[in-house]
Amino acid sequence: MTALAVTIEDIRAARPFVEQMAIRTPLKPAPKLSARVGRPVHLKLESLQPTGSFKIRGAAAKIVPLTEDARAAGVVTASTGNHGRAVSYVANALGLSATICLSEHVPAGKVDALAGFDCTLDIAGPSQDAAFERATAMSQAPGGPTLVHSILDPVVLAGQGTCGVEICEDLADVGTVIVPVSGGGLMAGVATAVTALAPDARLVGVSMEGGAAMHASLRAGHPVELPEVDTLADSLQGGIGLDNDTTFPIVRELVDDLVLVTEDEIWAGMRHALHEHRLVLEGAGAAGIAALLADRIELADGPVAVVCSGANAELDQVARLATDVPAVAEGWAG
Ligand SMILES: *Cc1c(COP(=O)(O)O)cnc(C)c1O
Repeated sequence: MTALAVTIEDIRAARPFVEQMAIRTPLKPAPKLSARVGRPVHLKLESLQPTGSFKIRGAAAKIVPLTEDARAAGVVTASTGNHGRAVSYVANALGLSATICLSEHVPAGKVDALAGFDCTLDIAGPSQDAAFERATAMSQAPGGPTLVHSILDPVVLAGQGTCGVEICEDLADVGTVIVPVSGGGLMAGVATAVTALAPDARLVGVSMEGGAAMHASLRAGHPVELPEVDTLADSLQGGIGLDNDTTFPIVRELVDDLVLVTEDEIWAGMRHALHEHRLVLEGAGAAGIAALLADRIELADGPVAVVCSGANAELDQVARLATDVPAVAEGWAG
């Protein structure tokens, strides 16, 4: 077996850089979910990060330690929104220039949110792949900016792993850790940390039913591409890259299960977060809650940590969620 791209030492090394930009998020007890699954459930509120998602961890791990020369050349990335927002935030905080290449499918609210940062937006075509190609080409030009890739850069993955270290420190007997998965950057980091610090814990990923590239790749035994499908969990859209030698091997090696949730289940997860916790989560951020409510996850003994990865829902969605009162008390009736 070749070595995995990230180690617990890499995560420990990233931590001081992450701590300059990200907050240590709370683990909030979730009494109704706990009663439902018969174990203490805690929500790891990455939605409270300054940019509304965990992605600030990986961005900080990569950008904060850059040399003066590299800082002068700035940074570039391709993003469905939250990663671009995190890269811009960290770059702005350090006074660096940031260029964000986006696909034209990114929702208006996320583009507007990026407009609030000091960064150059580059709408680079119909897909994430086109955006990524443009960002790569810029970074390869002489004196070009540093590419901050959300899943293929081991330093970024190490940054995301600090979320897993915090879970293990705050919940030493954690039995199951539930993580939303798209390209698997968050899961790769968290799985590396949890495997080192709580080796008996069960690791379960959650993706949406339509266009779950990591799920299809695990099935196939190698990275595959799927067409992008519209989903409430737009932060979970996108591929894993056909040459993925970072997150794919880590997820295949360390993760116990990867389950899929429907659009209705994602909506129910978002609604549960708002109604029961007064917590705004975007679809991706609520995927773990959705999977628990839908009984999709086989749980180990001991407490459950659910990573609530992001807050950045569109406001009209939040308005609809607020007034969407289920006819029967949610899910309790079975
Ligand atoms: C990026 C993102 C994810 C998925 O992260 P990957 O590292 O691509 O698996 C999940 N939730 C939110 C809110 C995100 O922004």
